[in-house]
Amino acid sequence: MLDKVVIANRGEIALRIWRACKELGIKTVAVHSTADRDLKHVRLADESVCIGPPAAAKSYLNIPAVISAAEVTDAVAIHPGYGFLSENADFAEAVDRSGFIFIGPRPETIRLMGDKISAKAAMKKAGIPCVPGSDGPTPDNPDEIMAMAKDIGYPVIIKAAGGGGGRGMRVVHGEATLLEALSLTKSEAASAFGNDTVYMEKFLENPRHIEFQVLADGQGNAIHLGERDCSVQRRHQKVIEEAPAPGLPEKLRNKIGERCAEACRKIGYRGAGTFEFLYENEEFYFIEMNTRLQVEHPVTEMITGVDIVKEQLRIAAGEPLSYKQKDIHFRGHAIECRINAEDPKNFTPSPGTISLYHPPGGPGIRVDSHLYSGYTVPPHYDSMIGKIIAYGDDREKALARMRTALTEMVVEGIKTNILLHRDILNDGAFQAGGTNIHFLEKKLKFAAK
Ligand code: ADP
Repeated sequence: MLDKVVIANRGEIALRIWRACKELGIKTVAVHSTADRDLKHVRLADESVCIGPPAAAKSYLNIPAVISAAEVTDAVAIHPGYGFLSENADFAEAVDRSGFIFIGPRPETIRLMGDKISAKAAMKKAGIPCVPGSDGPTPDNPDEIMAMAKDIGYPVIIKAAGGGGGRGMRVVHGEATLLEALSLTKSEAASAFGNDTVYMEKFLENPRHIEFQVLADGQGNAIHLGERDCSVQRRHQKVIEEAPAPGLPEKLRNKIGERCAEACRKIGYRGAGTFEFLYENEEFYFIEMNTRLQVEHPVTEMITGVDIVKEQLRIAAGEPLSYKQKDIHFRGHAIECRINAEDPKNFTPSPGTISLYHPPGGPGIRVDSHLYSGYTVPPHYDSMIGKIIAYGDDREKALARMRTALTEMVVEGIKTNILLHRDILNDGAFQAGGTNIHFLEKKLKFAAK
């Protein structure tokens, strides 16, 4: 097993990684900014290294600082968590070059998947169903662009090849606005991602967001852990996730899951990964692959019993996958609510000191959070302060437990979105299951009237 791991992240996910390391007997190094000295995992880790000022660009995104921390502590591997440097191929390469193990895929794989055009091409070749579209960058000739959109059929969506985080996309409903939308998206993409390449695909009107979790050891073995439904979103940000996806036919799950595992074998994938799809009229359409651990991984852990972070650590240590596909059984239902430090009405961030904190508990409740009474949520980072995960024998029982947990949880001193979650859990359409990606925005618009 690995001897010592640098946890190159913060907040709840850094604590999650610390817990997995601890269980496996791996020593830990917490790297943190000056704003994060009081994070729970910083106190718990065997060692800690301050890597810079609060601004992420100068600390959590500072590649030389993170690598130096590994050097001075004699660590052997670096876990990037999610966000920050987790999908940065240059970082993964620098880690390799410095003689450490990057806990994730090879840099070439990250690079391939980081460009949405090359990712889509690779996946199409590997037998994954994709959204119909330009199959490459949009042409330069205006006539060809117009013909292409007509061929795909309006509405179409123009997307930046280097885009991410829900940015760099524009929907076009008819040819009158096509060329202007294309040039706007191009110039935005150039300034936001340093790459003005865009592509075109069919815009699906009412899809659900369903994604598949995979694990692969880079030695030819790959399995899937089923899917998660992440359709409850606001501004393309996930708010609630669940597994399995309500109403998804088992045969289709096995078919798409197996295709994802097969694609991993074909590209020599290593580590944990997620294939994101839009799902409409019982058809899956690949949109992108995330080459890292995801926020919502716990719902999959709850219904499969697989500890995804421990598997990542084992794979990084060079061990073959400890599961075969036939060992994976889906049991019950799990749902996750992301708790954010934000105003539940206007969604502005609400940093500050937590005067009182009572996490929920009881059967089937898991809380992944770094909070404690007296902790100060800094204003510099993402507003997510934790996740509640509820498990039950079926969806209804999981929802009942989540409702209880949301009633029980107390976070005082800052504003949180707990009330929004209670509201969603009491919504008839949500309770029925299988709502599409517009559900939450529509609900919020209606409430604002
Ligand atoms: P990002 O990397 O920025 O998250 P994605 O490609 O994953 O970008 O898309 C983010 C979201 O944008 C999707 O979850 C979906 O809501 C919407 N979206 C992307 N492509 C399409 C499409 N072809 N049709 C409809 N919605 C889309």
